[in-house]
Amino acid sequence: MTSIKLSDVERIKTESNYLRGTIQEGLADRITASISADDQQLIKLHGAYQQQNRDLDDERRKQKLEPLYSFLIRIRVPGGITTAQQWLDIDKLADMYGNPTIKLTTRQAFELHGVVKRKLKATIKGINQTLLDTLAACGDVNRNVMTSANPWESEIHQQVYDDARLLHTNLTPQTTAYHEIWLNDELVGGGEKKEDIEPMYSKTYLPRKFKIAIAIPPRNDVDVYANDLGLIAIAEDGKLIGYNILAGGGMGMTFGIETTYPRLGDLIGFVKPENAVEVAKAIVIWQRDNGNRSDRKNARLKYTIDRLGLNEFKKAIKSELGDKLEPAKPFHFESNGDSYGWKKGFNGKWYYTLFVEGGKVKNDSKLQLKTALQEIAQNHNGNFILTGNQNLVIADVEEKDKDKIDQLLEKWKLNKHFSGIRRNSLACAALPLCGLAFAEAERYLPSLVDKIEVDIVNLNLQEDDILLRMTGCPNGCARPYLGEIGLVGKSPGKYNLYLGAGFTGNRLNKLYAELLSEDEILATLKPILADYALNKNTGERFGDFVIRKEYVNATTEGIAFHSDLKKISK
Ligand code: SF4
Repeated sequence: MTSIKLSDVERIKTESNYLRGTIQEGLADRITASISADDQQLIKLHGAYQQQNRDLDDERRKQKLEPLYSFLIRIRVPGGITTAQQWLDIDKLADMYGNPTIKLTTRQAFELHGVVKRKLKATIKGINQTLLDTLAACGDVNRNVMTSANPWESEIHQQVYDDARLLHTNLTPQTTAYHEIWLNDELVGGGEKKEDIEPMYSKTYLPRKFKIAIAIPPRNDVDVYANDLGLIAIAEDGKLIGYNILAGGGMGMTFGIETTYPRLGDLIGFVKPENAVEVAKAIVIWQRDNGNRSDRKNARLKYTIDRLGLNEFKKAIKSELGDKLEPAKPFHFESNGDSYGWKKGFNGKWYYTLFVEGGKVKNDSKLQLKTALQEIAQNHNGNFILTGNQNLVIADVEEKDKDKIDQLLEKWKLNKHFSGIRRNSLACAALPLCGLAFAEAERYLPSLVDKIEVDIVNLNLQEDDILLRMTGCPNGCARPYLGEIGLVGKSPGKYNLYLGAGFTGNRLNKLYAELLSEDEILATLKPILADYALNKNTGERFGDFVIRKEYVNATTEGIAFHSDLKKISK
């Protein structure tokens, strides 16, 4: 029998004593601002990534200094709901320890960037004092559980949110290392310290990250198909009756390796709400036992399913669930974006969805968004909801308080109307801090949209919702393969252009042109947008149009993402 060589990350996890490694020692080492390579892998499962400011690499090298290291800290916010006080606390931590901005992620989490090693412990401790945490926000475990951010349009939102929290709790690692390292063993909620045991994950955790989202039709604002496990809430007569189950979605791929590809989840059945945790655990355990632990580029559930076969996978889950896994029920999605402005909820309260460009909460010469949201939080008795599209809902506003919030939105110029393409744009963080970025995304997309908007306005398309997604590398953090227009960084200033995703998040796009500079992106898109303006059918979405007009072939399944390409000429 030939033995398979495991990836080095498997060794690191196995030897780590339930995620301890030498993180404590690394934090105490004042000679360097970094931690060891092994601990850099482990610390992800505690919610932190070591990064370096790549803008300053040359200068620091010249000065014979080590790179300017800092850490990104990701904070789990199940279902994206935080209180106004938690918002203020996170805002303060960003000022005290971060760069000082807040990133709202595409998975309804907060990120603090630029936290240096000696402030790491105080930051994570501070986060826990807000009753949020960072455990399992990154790494080979289940991440933040997402839910549709639409309480105003769904009577079942509260129940779905409760189920999201249940999944979150049941799939959180049990290791006590987190409390030991970051909280000096003090349990924030009280209670006794537990023994280390990981009944579900075991010592080696999962082969790769695992993502869960719950969508409430008709809105697919969490891109449910892009998750390892997607749940689609099914309601009858306004009551939640259960969830359709999707499995095997995921965005990341690697340039030049066609055995890596984005993939949408397959529908495998339906379960009642009380069986949601059981089906999630069955899928996680199947992936734990069958996922590829030698090649991390082929380790996500999507590849395990394609390697062993969807039928085998379904059979295995059915054998665990029995009759509890029923045939899937009909459902219908209408969009995967957010709906902006004021909406009145079933509960009589008001909800204001605010566009946050690139999910970046900061102050600059154009917009004092961070200060504005601080003042709103100080005057708001309800919650905030982070959306899966990097936006923010000012939630649960009482009728009597609506005018006050309106005045603040007006005062800080937050109630501006944006073009359809801008309000549907997403960008990952990319440069300068992401070590994997080949090109800019968050810092660059707004200025690119300014230029695309010139054509959009001339073509009278400013109200057309067109999904635009940009990432600095093919890992896909901003789900670029679900953009009707997807731009994926390939080298500094150059992007691959993908076209043709479905407007409801139900179809991947397809490569249309490679290595485009800004001028080439604009020159390539302009005639296609002009054709769309002139020849679209009533209600026809841009992604559907480019397929009907044969600019690209439709991607029917993940495994066919790289095939059926048209001849591309620049
Ligand atoms: Fe970094 Fe790539 Fe993710 Fe963007 S998509 S944040 S560049 S890993």
